[in-house]
Amino acid sequence: MFKFLSSDPVHNPTASSTADTEVKTTTCYMCACRCGIRVHLRDGQVRYIDGNPDHPLNKGVICAKGSSGIMKQVSPARLTQPLLRKPGSERGEGVFEPISWERAFDILEKRLSHLRATDPKKFALFTGRDQMQALTGLFARQFGTPNYAAHGGFCSVNMAAGMIYSVGGSFWEFGGPDLDHAKLFVMIGTAEDHHSNPMKMALGKFKRAGGRFISINPVRTGYSAIADEWIPIRPGTDGALFMALLHELIAHDLVDRPFLQRFTNAPQLVVLDDGEREGLFAFDPAAGVPGDGRNPHNKLAWDLTSGRAIQAYPEGVEEGRSLALEGHYTLPDGTRVAPAFQLLRERVSQHTPEWAETITGIPAERIRQLAREMGETALHQAFELPIPWTDAWGKQHPTTQARPVAFHAMRGLAAHSNGFQTVRSLAVLMSLLGTIDAPGGFRHKAPYPRHIVPNYRAFNDPDMIKPNTPLNAAPLGFPANPEELAVHADGTPLRIDHAFSWEHPLSAHGLMHNVITNAVRGDPYKIDTLLIFMANMAWNSTMNTMEVRKKLNARGEDGEYLIPFLVVCDAFQSETVAFADLVLPDTTYLERHDVMSMLDRPISEFDGPVDSVRVPVVEPTGECKPFQEVLIELASRLKFPAFTNEDGSRKFKDYPDFVVNFQAQPGVGFLMGWRGKDGTQHLRGDPNPNQWEMYAKNNCVFQHHMPKNQQYMRNWNRPYLDFAKEKGWRQKNDPVQLAIYSDTLQTFRLAAQGKSKGRQPPDHLRERIATYFDPLPFWYEPLENACVDTQQFPLAAITQRPMAMYHSWDSQNAWLRQIHSHNYLHVNPVTAKAAGVEDGGWAWVTSAWGELRCMVRHSDAVEPGTVWTWNAIGKASGAWQLAPGADESRKGFLLNHLITEELPFAGGQISNSDPVTGQAGWYDVRVNLRPAHAEEPAESFPQLDAVPSVPGLLRSGRRFMTHILSKKP
Ligand code: SF4
Repeated sequence: MFKFLSSDPVHNPTASSTADTEVKTTTCYMCACRCGIRVHLRDGQVRYIDGNPDHPLNKGVICAKGSSGIMKQVSPARLTQPLLRKPGSERGEGVFEPISWERAFDILEKRLSHLRATDPKKFALFTGRDQMQALTGLFARQFGTPNYAAHGGFCSVNMAAGMIYSVGGSFWEFGGPDLDHAKLFVMIGTAEDHHSNPMKMALGKFKRAGGRFISINPVRTGYSAIADEWIPIRPGTDGALFMALLHELIAHDLVDRPFLQRFTNAPQLVVLDDGEREGLFAFDPAAGVPGDGRNPHNKLAWDLTSGRAIQAYPEGVEEGRSLALEGHYTLPDGTRVAPAFQLLRERVSQHTPEWAETITGIPAERIRQLAREMGETALHQAFELPIPWTDAWGKQHPTTQARPVAFHAMRGLAAHSNGFQTVRSLAVLMSLLGTIDAPGGFRHKAPYPRHIVPNYRAFNDPDMIKPNTPLNAAPLGFPANPEELAVHADGTPLRIDHAFSWEHPLSAHGLMHNVITNAVRGDPYKIDTLLIFMANMAWNSTMNTMEVRKKLNARGEDGEYLIPFLVVCDAFQSETVAFADLVLPDTTYLERHDVMSMLDRPISEFDGPVDSVRVPVVEPTGECKPFQEVLIELASRLKFPAFTNEDGSRKFKDYPDFVVNFQAQPGVGFLMGWRGKDGTQHLRGDPNPNQWEMYAKNNCVFQHHMPKNQQYMRNWNRPYLDFAKEKGWRQKNDPVQLAIYSDTLQTFRLAAQGKSKGRQPPDHLRERIATYFDPLPFWYEPLENACVDTQQFPLAAITQRPMAMYHSWDSQNAWLRQIHSHNYLHVNPVTAKAAGVEDGGWAWVTSAWGELRCMVRHSDAVEPGTVWTWNAIGKASGAWQLAPGADESRKGFLLNHLITEELPFAGGQISNSDPVTGQAGWYDVRVNLRPAHAEEPAESFPQLDAVPSVPGLLRSGRRFMTHILSKKP
């Protein structure tokens, strides 16, 4: 009997567990934050989920999403059986027959073993928001295909790459704001997003302690709701703001000069003469130490004390040296040089606040004040922590210098085609203030910082794609120069997504968003089998969704699909499932083992490394199988070397066995806690057969606290660098000098200008590379602006996540959809009234690429030139087992219909992405707005035919609700 109107709570959270209640700990996966949770079970069913108070990340805090995991578990859209598309049916019709796992494995084994033995690159593996890239990347590498990536290319690779190529680490998993010591916190381009609960907890504490919080964002939502000040900014213009702030900080000498001289490449001398060394650092080939192998420490700096060029490393850090940051100099051989900082100073000299005002919409005076506030807080309100530390050159620092200005930024900066240089300009700004791994500033999380450039090269040798042979390098990595690109001798791409090609050289996370289009086009070649995991490519995980859906159904002249075999692994009946040839039902996060590994994306804290696991708290539903188990099974059947004993037998029984026994290097495995045969070694040690049990007994988490003297200044901290090398997190223990100036970028520019020997880009890409691979940060208009009439499409359109939902997985959650079941387009009242669109009214939104009809809400919390909505709430009718006509499809809408996947370029097309990294330019789209006619249907456009149900769906949600609501706790 339902008791919806009863005042009795369904569950009393303060009541102690009853004898028939079992409580198990694991890790949440309702978003990517990875909080510790306690799952309360009765009769083998999940009855309640709360935060684990003993977990270091969330300390018992849980959000609406996390506690709604129970509804994910019983979602009626759960797939429960492997499915094979029925012969004669079309993709998209969703006509499947249930098959056994044995048959599914048999089909895959035959198909994949043939591909592996003939042409391995015809197999492509692309995954969505998973947290197991160390395993999926290993699978692709062992298979022998370079065609692998996860979702980062359409998420935030600009944030990762822009920061890592500049300071060796990045926000969120790799580092973040130290709000315990900050006095000023500036959040830019971030809504309710990654690092959710910890950020909220830290913000609450920061505000209570009197900290000042400024949010810079076109929209005031999420965390910004409690900001002391909201500074609205036009989308895609953050880089212009940072350039003006740099201008002001340098003009008023509000920069940390000793920090720049000792810990960055600001004093290093850049060659000014034309030629193959132009724009690179002057160096002494006979001096210096090897560095990280790709970036030797042999650069020169100008010593003002002796009036001559000296070795920047280590001479430049000796007592009594005074390294020039400004000026122009001539080396003994006549070469003209200038310190990198001088070039930065010249670069920003024209970028006045008035210049930035016209671009950003922020008044020049406010920009001036902001720069003053940042600089004065960092330098004049600085303090020291009584923590002595030793730098990489042996100098003892009696205290640790705080720089109490913290920043946090995310997709608002990243999801633009100018995002890499924008993020770099922020990284340089932070470096000038000395806030890198300093108390109160940005702090790294182990295993970061990495080298600049990280010591992970992406696979790039076409001759090493061989039958039945693993690749000689991982498919993803960080190119350091043109020779490391994944291109053929003629410059054409090696990979199906064109990652690491001249089109997007530093695409460290691949370009998942272009795979289907390229594969259908056969550019650069045709593939046979595409395996997609946890990515809704037929809906919100692609740009211009409707075209991609057509492409999934496209056939060649021979009548065969242009992507011959499409395998989809998902836990739910997403829009993409109907297009699959083979469907593999994944488990939920409550039904499986999982690792948040130091080899991948751990949950480290500022004071030391942390990794964690998920353990099954309930049995898998139906015949669901964790994707990890699918990979281990296939790797064993296909006899990948890393998964096979010398006698040909399989090496690992299953995924838990793999996690315990696989070693990336001696003593370094997927998990760092309780290693060694008896479980007494941590961080590094032999495999421990009982490692899973130890994690399960310890809240599913292992945390190591480093000594205080290793917790700051880790780019240069001698004990930390030694420790990190010893534990296998880094290959070398040399310091990581911050890249105010990027000679890495300059090597690409020289190639494009035809000035360097070695690889050069195809002619049609020369100007593009030469323009965007600027060694100094700069701002340029998002690329879409050059392709559309911005008078005709005057508004920027962006998306953000709502607090209660995360990607499409949670947009059909029975509890969360009661908070919002559809979205609105939020428009500033001034803009809406000018367009004649009423609050709550229907409107058409048009871009150069498409149009949609949606409901509009007037909102003062958005700047007048921007419209925005939540993403992934709009659904195709019938998908996710939503009833046809559900609000999600009838009133909800998907902004993707307005976004193009490609832009016109050089007489053809090129990905609508950042030209440096390939990050999808989601937030570049320009639109206009007009009211819908009164006689038009009150429903969103486009509407799609209802997605058919597939066999074997759980459909038990209603039964479960009846069950749970009819019982007292
Ligand atoms: S913030 Fe994310 S990981 Fe944490 S409880 Fe909420 S949904 Fe779960």
